[in-house]
Amino acid sequence: MSGNYSRFVELGRKIVAVGRNYRDHAAELGNAIPDKPLIFMKPATAYITEGSPIKIPKGCTSLHHEIELGIVIGKKATDITEANAMDYVAGYVLALDMTARDLQNIAKQKGHPWEMAKSFDTSCPVSAFIPKSSIPDPHNVNVWCKVNGNMKQDGNTKDMIFTVPYLLSYISQFFTLEPNDIVLTGTPAGVSAVKSGDVIQGGLDQLIKIEFRVESSN
Ligand code: MG
Repeated sequence: MSGNYSRFVELGRKIVAVGRNYRDHAAELGNAIPDKPLIFMKPATAYITEGSPIKIPKGCTSLHHEIELGIVIGKKATDITEANAMDYVAGYVLALDMTARDLQNIAKQKGHPWEMAKSFDTSCPVSAFIPKSSIPDPHNVNVWCKVNGNMKQDGNTKDMIFTVPYLLSYISQFFTLEPNDIVLTGTPAGVSAVKSGDVIQGGLDQLIKIEFRVESSN
């Protein structure tokens, strides 16, 4: 693995995300604990970086924050084993999986796909790239999220149901992961709705912080 992954937002072609990967979050939304990872994707057009606002999609009245540890892929991975999976990791990112919960609830009821609720423009705010060496154990980092200064999510990646190597191996059986792609590993409990003018802050241990303002799309 070589190179500079600081431009993953420009160069990455997909964002693969995992739903319900923390028991307490699955429970807060009334969902069962999955026996296999629940996978969805966001397009690269969902990315924003600090300085750009999160836009509430038209028709959404319940936009939720989900703070997540993201994995930045460092080399092409097709059907990789769990034992070797960490060799494919270039580093990490702190991300928000912004979710139009009202649209997602309609989709869930109808058995429809989640893309309208999960994959809209600005639905993936991200931090700068975090080198792999900065996080010796991705299953022992604190991730937190505040809205207007109030703590909403305060979790630890040790509570993931499916580990990072398991997720990368599983996902790579279906989708080839390429350098600069990212994998979002799910969110701990405490998700809540935000409105125009709110400021969302997130953090990963003492390593990195992010801040994004929410705006209506009108
Ligand atoms: Mg999520």
